[in-house]
Amino acid sequence: MPHKCTKCGRIYKDGDEALLRGCKCGNRRFYYLRKVPRKKEKKNDDLSNIKVILDGVYEIDVDSLMKNKPVIVSKEEGRYLVSIASIFKNLKNKRKD
Ligand SMILES: [Zn+2]
Repeated sequence: MPHKCTKCGRIYKDGDEALLRGCKCGNRRFYYLRKVPRKKEKKNDDLSNIKVILDGVYEIDVDSLMKNKPVIVSKEEGRYLVSIASIFKNLKNKRKD
């Protein structure tokens, strides 16, 4: 499962040395790209499309992000952090269309 740099977006394969050393851009945080089965998610009423697994390690619902849904980050069960910036960005993009 690939990891994506949170800063420059470079993709690294699982086990890549860069994941331990840090990205070429100097960033040391990576998204953990993994497709989450949607059916299970809905059972939990999980609104988030990004889950914080560990500090700097995130589980991302790529499908919903691709659909330009607002970014909702869940850190603890039942607590959500919504990225307001992403919502405004989505609205801006829609106006352009
Ligand atoms: Zn990077």
